[in-house]
Amino acid sequence: MHKAEASAETLIIEDDEPPSSRLAIDTLYPVLPSGMDPIHLTRPVFLLPAKKTTSLRHPKLRPEIKAFQKQFFHGSTARDWHDWQWQVRNRIHTYERLNQILPLGPDEFLADNTVQLPLSITPYYASLIPKDVPDHPLRRCVVPTAGEWVKLPCESDDPLGEDHQSPVPGLVHRYPDRVLFLLTDFCSTYCRYCTRSRVVGHGGIRASRARWEKAIAYIAANPCVRDVLLSGGDPLTLSDDRLEWVLSRLRQIPHVEIIRIGTKMPAVLPQRITPALVKMLKKYHPVWMSLHFIHPDECTPETHTACALLADAGIPLGSQTVLLKGVNDCVQTMTELMHRLMTLRVRPYYLYQCDPITGSGHFRTSINQGLEIIRGMRGFTTGYAVPTYVVDAPGGGGKIPLMPDYVSGHTGDDLVLTNYENRSFTYPDPVQASPVQG
Ligand code: SF4
Repeated sequence: MHKAEASAETLIIEDDEPPSSRLAIDTLYPVLPSGMDPIHLTRPVFLLPAKKTTSLRHPKLRPEIKAFQKQFFHGSTARDWHDWQWQVRNRIHTYERLNQILPLGPDEFLADNTVQLPLSITPYYASLIPKDVPDHPLRRCVVPTAGEWVKLPCESDDPLGEDHQSPVPGLVHRYPDRVLFLLTDFCSTYCRYCTRSRVVGHGGIRASRARWEKAIAYIAANPCVRDVLLSGGDPLTLSDDRLEWVLSRLRQIPHVEIIRIGTKMPAVLPQRITPALVKMLKKYHPVWMSLHFIHPDECTPETHTACALLADAGIPLGSQTVLLKGVNDCVQTMTELMHRLMTLRVRPYYLYQCDPITGSGHFRTSINQGLEIIRGMRGFTTGYAVPTYVVDAPGGGGKIPLMPDYVSGHTGDDLVLTNYENRSFTYPDPVQASPVQG
C-alpha cells in the first residue's frame, strides 16, 4: 500500500457518513432547437425537477451508471455507490484494475507506477469515461501517460515557489491578507496536471492535528490574515468531524473573516456532499467554496445535486479551471463548461494557465490560445460566464490576470476601442483632463 494511501484509509475509517439523501436528477433536455449554435448547448442540461419522484434515502442510479456498476463492481448496491467512503475505498489505484475498466493504450501502459503522482480514480468518475474513446478529455486528466516522464527545461516540481513562502509546514503565506492552509495531501482522484504533484499523494502533508495546530497558531499570531483558503490535496476527503475541528478552531480567531474551501469533490465524488456535511459547514459561515472543474462532461445530475446542496446552504460557489491542451482548449468547450457551471449555480471564477510543473508539457497551451478563448467568450455570452484568465507567476509572483487588448490607442482626445465584434469605437478621454469647474 502506498504511504499516502495508508494515511487516507486511517482518515476514512473514522467517518461514518450516510449516503446522500438527495435525489439523482434525471430531467434531461437533450434535443437542440434547430439552428442553435452548438456553443450554446451541445450536452444535456440538468435541472432540478419540480416534484420528487424517487425515495430520498436511496436515489436511483442512472441506467448507464447502473450498467457500469454491474459490470465492474458486481455485488455492490446503489446504497454503496452513493456512499462516498465506499467510493474512496473502491477507487481505482492499480494499473491492473484500470486496464480492466479502461483498456490502456501503449502510451498509458508505459506510464506505469513510475510517474511522480500516484494513480487514483473514483468508480464514479471512471463511469463518466467512455472506454472506447482513447483521447476523451476526462481520461486525459486522470489516466497517466508517458508524457509525465518528459521534463522540459522550463519545468520544475514547485514552479510557484510555494515551499519558499511556507512559514510552517503545509501553510503558504504569499499575499498580504490571506493564507493557503494545506490540510491533507490526499485526493480521491489525482489530476495528472496537478500543481502540487510534488506533494499530493506522497504522504508529505499529513492530516495531523499536531501540524494543523502549528498552522492555526501562525494564523492566530498574524492579525493581517483575514482569509484562509483550505486546500490540499482535497480537504473534503477528511471526515466531517476532522474538518469541523479545523473550522471551529479557525472561527475562534477574531481576525479570520472568511474561510474558503478548495475542492474537486463535486466533479469527482459528488456523493461526498451530504446533508450532514453542509449542515456542519453552515455553522461556520461565511464559508465560500472554489470548485475545480475542467470539462462540461463533469456536470452530471449527481454534480447538480451536490452543488444544489451547497448553494442551498448559502455557500457561495466559484469555479477554478485549468486550461488544458486537448481537454478544454477551445472556445466552444470552455463556453459550454461555463454555461453548465452557471446552471449549477457555480460562478465561473478563474481560468488558470497550466503551471509549468514537471511533466506537464503535453497539457500546456500557449498563452495566446488562452487569450483567444477569452476573446471568443467576452461579449458573446454574459460576463458572469467569463472567468478571469490568470497566469500564476513562476517563482511565487502570484496570480496575474490576462485580458485580450481592447484598447487600440488615442486619437486626439479620444480613446479608440475595439469591441467583441472587432468594430472600432471612440470614447472621449482627454489625455490631459481639464479640471472640474466648481
Ligand atoms: S484535486 Fe486538486 S490537489 Fe487533488 S490532484 Fe487534482 S488538482 Fe491536485
